[in-house]
Amino acid sequence: MAKLYFNYGAMSAGKSIEVITTAYKYNSKGMNALVIKPLIDTKGGDLITSRIGMSKQVDILLKKDASLIDEIKNYGDITCLVIDEAQFLTEKQVYELVIITKYLDIPVICYGLKVDFQGHLFQGSEALIRYADSLNELVAICACGKKARFNARKVNGQYIYDGEQILIGEDEAYDPLCETCFLNKVLIPHSQEFQKIYNKIKGER
Ligand SMILES: [Zn+2]
Repeated sequence: MAKLYFNYGAMSAGKSIEVITTAYKYNSKGMNALVIKPLIDTKGGDLITSRIGMSKQVDILLKKDASLIDEIKNYGDITCLVIDEAQFLTEKQVYELVIITKYLDIPVICYGLKVDFQGHLFQGSEALIRYADSLNELVAICACGKKARFNARKVNGQYIYDGEQILIGEDEAYDPLCETCFLNKVLIPHSQEFQKIYNKIKGER
């Protein structure tokens, strides 16, 4: 029976390059790996681009209300589905992936972020963590050299904590940070909840 895989990592963990090479490995052997990306904005459009310079056209740009089962019907024999930016899948679309692996016997390989800029799970990632047969962490590196698990949002060069989970058309950037740097640079300076806990500990010392 086919499996549902979720390969997650922070920004710059090499997810897009893995999407491109995974699809290439199948398609260069005459197989049919369909590349799917949830549509959240027009940035980047239907191209998957990696920071090291490779890019690939996606086969399906998936709208929020679209059904994956309907979308893949037109593609004949499918070897596997490769999904980029899987954090943006809806919960319902993840349920469809579970059905696709178990009843259509098509493997599904998802790549995406686990947490947003505040450290909360994305909807798609939360559902994938619950349902994936296999979870695998891709490693990104913090500026301090440790393993980065968080994505800090930067606007005009400053770390920020408040705002929408998904920004469309704004000029933001993200840094992959380890737990300690995320605490020191983002949560303790900007989150009242974390500040209170931190001050309590400081006061007791
Ligand atoms: Zn760090």
